[in-house]
Amino acid sequence: MEIRFDHTTLGQRVLFGTWAAATNIAAALRDLGASRPLLVGGGHASEVVDQVFAEFAVMGHIGEVVQHVPAERAREAVKLAQDVGADSVVAIGGGSATGLAKIIARDTGLPVVAVPTTFSGSEATDIWGMTEDERKTTGTDFRVLPRVVVYDATLTLGLPTDLAVHSGLNALAHAVDSLWAPRADPINRAMAGEGMRALVPGLRGLRANPADVRAHEQVLYGTYLSGVALASAGAGMHHKICHVLGGTFNLPHAPTHAVVLPYVAAHNADADPDSDAGIAEALGTPHGASGLWDLAREVGAPGSLGEIGFTEDDVDLAAELATAAIPESNPAPVSHESVAALLRSALRGDDVRR
Ligand code: NAD
Repeated sequence: MEIRFDHTTLGQRVLFGTWAAATNIAAALRDLGASRPLLVGGGHASEVVDQVFAEFAVMGHIGEVVQHVPAERAREAVKLAQDVGADSVVAIGGGSATGLAKIIARDTGLPVVAVPTTFSGSEATDIWGMTEDERKTTGTDFRVLPRVVVYDATLTLGLPTDLAVHSGLNALAHAVDSLWAPRADPINRAMAGEGMRALVPGLRGLRANPADVRAHEQVLYGTYLSGVALASAGAGMHHKICHVLGGTFNLPHAPTHAVVLPYVAAHNADADPDSDAGIAEALGTPHGASGLWDLAREVGAPGSLGEIGFTEDDVDLAAELATAAIPESNPAPVSHESVAALLRSALRGDDVRR
């Protein structure tokens, strides 16, 4: 069969090492020629923050970050970075900290060093997001791609286990959704496959023993690959639905992804049997979508969107907004009715297994 594709690999340095965050942040800043960072987040990595303060002239510290990057907070952060004359941004935290740093980078051009403390994967993408008037806007811009990512598995050890698992399922959603995203190609498919193969045992290991640093390493490694796959392939049906649920209905990001993923996979399974088989292979199950459903139960995802704040009254608007955003590349046909039906199933927590 002929192979033909158009793939862009994003340029980014990744420093991966347990117990090495502070050393690697210092190395990253020096290599960037930066010495006056603005620090974002850090609430769950106080020792690392102390070491950054000890070694660099930290020009400002935005300790409190808010999920989904409210536009007003973002504008304040951009102004602070400009006012204090920062030459870089170090973001230590989950997707919310990275997300705020990305807007600073977009509007100032400052380089970002991202130090993830969750499995959001935002650090691997050139996608920014911001919320204003209850609508989440996203875009891509090469300037927001963190120039360096510093992974240290000791920084995710402190995550409450449920939060860690939901976040890891969010990472898995990046890999799965990339399979039918607009720019899916053999390279990002390979990354997604390896990402899933790392995430699945990593998540099981993390649930079995939340203090297992090797499991955290595996989940972080899978998180990176899955984030790269999504950045390369673009966002698919799953992300478009979850963006609406987060941006308009303020549902919590990672648990929302954890609930919705098996429903989208089930929606697409028959229309894209190759992707379903790829997911199944990573999971070690006969079918991808039902395997995702079982995995979510096994590792402890929330049981339904109803459990995390979504209601029947929200379904129509959510379906309208999501349907308009779902890319044409989606393998199964999409309509207002089918998205509303999917959302109602997820709202109730229906079993997707065949
Ligand atoms: P988050 O950053 O809001 O963190 C979730 C919670 O975990 C917060 O209360 C935070 O304080 C806490 N936390 C973080 N690290 C911790 C640790 N090590 N120990 C204990 N608690 C810790 O949530 P998230 O799920 O990481 O990120 C969600 C945000 O990221 C959303 O806004 C989402 O849209 C965005 N996101 C963007 C992309 C992208 O490519 N642009 C990708 C994924 C997620």
